[in-house]
Amino acid sequence: MAAYTLTIHGGAGTILREDMTPELEAAYTRGLQEALDAGYTLLDKGGTALDAVLAATRSLEDCILFNAGRGSVFANDGSQEMDASVMDGKTLMAGAVAAVRHIRNPVDLAYTVMTQSQHVLLIGKGAEDFAALHEIKTEPDEYFFSPFRYEQWKKMQGTNEAALDHNVKVTDKKFGTVGAAACDMHGNIAAATSTGGMTNKQWGRVGDSSVIGAGTYANNKTCAISCTGHGEMFIRAVTAYDVSCLMEYKGLSLQEAMEIVVYDKLMKIDGEGGMVGVDAKGNAAMVFNSEGMYRGMRSSTKISEIKIYK
Ligand code: ASP
Repeated sequence: MAAYTLTIHGGAGTILREDMTPELEAAYTRGLQEALDAGYTLLDKGGTALDAVLAATRSLEDCILFNAGRGSVFANDGSQEMDASVMDGKTLMAGAVAAVRHIRNPVDLAYTVMTQSQHVLLIGKGAEDFAALHEIKTEPDEYFFSPFRYEQWKKMQGTNEAALDHNVKVTDKKFGTVGAAACDMHGNIAAATSTGGMTNKQWGRVGDSSVIGAGTYANNKTCAISCTGHGEMFIRAVTAYDVSCLMEYKGLSLQEAMEIVVYDKLMKIDGEGGMVGVDAKGNAAMVFNSEGMYRGMRSSTKISEIKIYK
């Protein structure tokens, strides 16, 4: 039996201890803990890495503190459009959705695209029609609304700028695209990512979180990765796949490969953010070049941690 591990993130960015209240910090820690528990319980029972990343990501989507599912940020037209993806490292199957509205758990829709369609990526209205056909749960606008995100957007409305939700300067800051990577006891790995994207983004914009190879990638031969950060740079750097390539072609470890991509390649193009990942031996890594990243990992080797700051 191989070591099994789950690692998760709730977004990276300018997350500073001095901006945080003890109550808020406790709430974030609770949100991360619940997601870790949701995924790890499955791994512990012999479940698959794929099921574990779906469960953890779903739990984070349901938590209003994080920028995914409920609590997603607002686009420039005041809508909440979400992106998500999932990849199975055993089969190299992948599914993704982009710019979808009203889907309660976008990661479940991404999984349904992977398992019930012949495609990898569905967008907008087409993805929503597909969701209806497969009885994917939807919610009204009110469900996704968070006063905090609305205030963030109001500060940027009418400008041509889009910002990482983590970096919008308002009091009581809330952050976070979400994602997970897992290795199960059979040595199979998987990754999933879900987001509302960037505050005040052009509606119709697609970020890295739904682009396989950029925000999400999984291959049993190398690693499973979920990213968070300025999506345009992560797409241009083909970030998640680059970690896999460094491992496959150069024989680097997961940690070494991630450090090159996050500290060197991304930083050269001002790509702020980070990632979490696992390899098929159950090793995990969490690397970021921003002030902080909501993150956690739990492994059958007894490692269990949740961290926010550097
Ligand atoms: N990567 C996401 C995007 O660009 C944002 C984030 O990670 O917070 O849509």
